Amino acid sequence: SKPTIAIVGRPNVGKSTLFNRIVGGRMAIVEDKPGVTRDRLYGNGSWLNYEFHVIDTGGIEIGDEPLLAQMRAQAEIAVDESDVILFIVDGKTGVTDADEAVAHLLRRSKKHVVLGVNKLDNFKQREQMYEFYSLGLGEPYAISCAHGLGIGDLLDAVTAKF
Ligand code: GDP
Ligand code: MG
Repeated sequence: SKPTIAIVGRPNVGKSTLFNRIVGGRMAIVEDKPGVTRDRLYGNGSWLNYEFHVIDTGGIEIGDEPLLAQMRAQAEIAVDESDVILFIVDGKTGVTDADEAVAHLLRRSKKHVVLGVNKLDNFKQREQMYEFYSLGLGEPYAISCAHGLGIGDLLDAVTAKF
């Protein structure tokens, strides 16, 4: 069956913008589990010769938990259900405590992780990706989901891990 990519990251970093870019209108129908809303979060994508499922974990709501607990739960779902995790951070904001907490969890999971540094909308802003090497997840990929920059290189890195 097709491999699954899970998109993980803090609220507002651009996960849904990336998800919509990758899947377009190709949504998958999935049933919600009790207490977990997953409507509209599963899609199908393709890149070159690869076809895959995509999950936008940011939209998975688990009860009324605080932010960090939500993010941990979303990351755990990503670890359980995906083959490659696409961890998205905000290059304009820089590294946050929540990014470090999620990075720690992902490193321990031993899953394949590709790190996308979003909101780097022009060439000058690209240098802001370098601080994200500190997350210990390897090479950061500079992207702008809003402008469609760097997405091809990002998907090359992801599909290379299938
Ligand atoms: P999510 O909460 O991680 O799903 O983030 P969203 O996809 O909803 O995006 C949050 C905000 O960031 C929205 O206002 C987007 O328009 C904006 N955004 C997303 N990608 C980019 C980008 O590449 N550059 C800039 N400047 N803004 C972006
Ligand atoms: Mg979202």
